[in-house]
Amino acid sequence: MRCRKCGKKAVVSLRAYRISLCGDCYVDFYRKLVERSIKKYRILGKDERILLAVSGGKDSSAMVSVLKELGFDFEILHIDLGIGEYSKDSRRKVENLSEMLSVNLNIVELEDYGFTIPQVRGRVCSACGTAKRYIMNRFARERGFDVVATGHTAEDLASFYLKNIAGGQQVFAEKLIPRIEPFDAKVVAKARPLFEISERENMLYALIKGLPFKSGECPYAPRPEWKEIVYDIELKKPGFTRNFVRGLVGKAENPLETRYCSICGEISSGEVCSFCKIRMKFTRSSKGF
Ligand code: SF4
Ligand code: ZN
Repeated sequence: MRCRKCGKKAVVSLRAYRISLCGDCYVDFYRKLVERSIKKYRILGKDERILLAVSGGKDSSAMVSVLKELGFDFEILHIDLGIGEYSKDSRRKVENLSEMLSVNLNIVELEDYGFTIPQVRGRVCSACGTAKRYIMNRFARERGFDVVATGHTAEDLASFYLKNIAGGQQVFAEKLIPRIEPFDAKVVAKARPLFEISERENMLYALIKGLPFKSGECPYAPRPEWKEIVYDIELKKPGFTRNFVRGLVGKAENPLETRYCSICGEISSGEVCSFCKIRMKFTRSSKGF
């Protein structure tokens, strides 16, 4: 199998694009895919102060590297969740990545807010998601960033949508678009520059570029059943996932009413925000912070 672009030996075959490429041409191809997506959906601007939320996994590592290649100026934020060896290794990978690419790294430890993820009882991933969203937004706003970007992939968005629809849940369309503008002064814009890129495409890019990334799963990760369904459809219908998420763009609506948490003052859907409710279980404190 030969590279479609240069004729060298191909190392990558992309069924969704019906193309085989060598390593160098793949990196070029991937960079152009991300660039086109950012321009078409106005996901990030070169004049913005950008904060990249980086977990240490392949997707966020790929995001950091490709945005650097595309000439964006940014800093990165890693949240240490305190999940034993998993968090230590993730943090090391992010430190290596920031050194390798010479980007400014900020680390926030969840423990500084009074708890770590292993102390949470019950719906661990839900609490973890709440904590990450809260810290990302607050950190970005307090330090004057215009936008926080995350490494969500096409599979993340498609599986979230299918899972909620299948469960009869209202799908919050604003969670499924590549760029969410702030609806309040306390909210920083959110961006997903990899929203139409697949996990495999990120993985291939990260491997070819030799980027540091953490490969093991978080010990709390549930079985990704809805993602497996998305992978199955993609296998039978190459290109499905990308087309599906493109179809979701443009459905966003902002919440009707903006309220503020009576404890910390951040945006909230009720009297006390979800993050403060979690914190209160550990700190027994209702003081602001
Ligand atoms: Fe947090 Fe781990 Fe759940 Fe991901 S899988 S949301 S890192 S607890
Ligand atoms: Zn609060």
